[in-house]
Amino acid sequence: MEYAKNILETIGNTPLVKINRITKGIEALVLAKVETFNPGNSVKDRMAVKMVDDAEANGSLKPGGTIIEGTSGNTGMGLALVAIARGYKLICVISDKQSKEKMDILRAVGAEVVVCPTNVSPEDPRSYYSVSKRLSEETPNSWYVNQYDNLSNSLAHYEQTGPEIWKQTDGKITHFIVGVGTGGTISGVGKYLKEKNPNIKIWGVDAYGSVFKKYHETGVFDENEIYTYITEGIGEDILPKNVDFEVIDGFTKVTDKDGAVFTRKLAKEEGIFVGYSAGSAIKGVLQLKEHFKPEDVVVVLFHDSGSRYIAKVFNDDWMRNRGFLETEVKLAEDLIGI
Ligand code: PMP
Repeated sequence: MEYAKNILETIGNTPLVKINRITKGIEALVLAKVETFNPGNSVKDRMAVKMVDDAEANGSLKPGGTIIEGTSGNTGMGLALVAIARGYKLICVISDKQSKEKMDILRAVGAEVVVCPTNVSPEDPRSYYSVSKRLSEETPNSWYVNQYDNLSNSLAHYEQTGPEIWKQTDGKITHFIVGVGTGGTISGVGKYLKEKNPNIKIWGVDAYGSVFKKYHETGVFDENEIYTYITEGIGEDILPKNVDFEVIDGFTKVTDKDGAVFTRKLAKEEGIFVGYSAGSAIKGVLQLKEHFKPEDVVVVLFHDSGSRYIAKVFNDDWMRNRGFLETEVKLAEDLIGI
């Protein structure tokens, strides 16, 4: 018999899929590492297990303990799967701008969800930061994950995602392109690949409204770069410890509109139903096309599933209200000409 001893054993070994239509005009082979195939439907399952493994090993997480993290989605889902398999409690602290759907998904997998107001300063006792901190101080036998600065996050990608990509491409990969949030994915995969072949180029996809690109180019943390944006999962207004700028060759920024439009194109033209940051990532590949030679092998990583964005990117009204959808609704009257 062949079976997994629990759901955690099904994490990883995700497929690499050729992009056929969207990349028309690019002669290089473009392959997508589709992380939706993980049981929690995102790449975050990998780092959730690794962070818990390391916390158990160093004694910060003890049997029967409570895991606390400020997360709205993918990391929470990954942590929930580990918590179930290993008998921990999980508290996810999230802001009220997150959709009800996301809260319901976390509750479905047994997490306790604490909702904080978005429009308060970080110092306010009701803020997401203050509440997470207070909960971790007040909850006995608890462990605060902190995916931004917890280096087990990038280590997971150094140990798993990087080697998988190297093996799947038979060492022929020339470019790796991926959205950057905590920096775990790009830094872990980038470090592994550069150790194997220092000529491989590592590119980050950033959002307009985020500090990464400017910081990488100038070494200046420019607060003027920070403003609200819609794209989810990529870009930051802080410099997480998990971003290793040394392994990153450059960043390209993708607009909210382009990210959303290309997420829909991935579903419609490739049959790959993935999340908003995947649209940004594939648009990033197109923006960088002058860097590729015909014989190159370009790998782009898609972080999560389209099902998390049904009410957003995949909803025509949501798209139209933001000016992201140019075609108007076709009314029956228009079609029959009355
Ligand atoms: N896309 C999505 C949907 C994410 O949830 C994240 C994590 N914030 C990222 C991209 C960026 O990945 P990383 O945190 O590893 O940089």
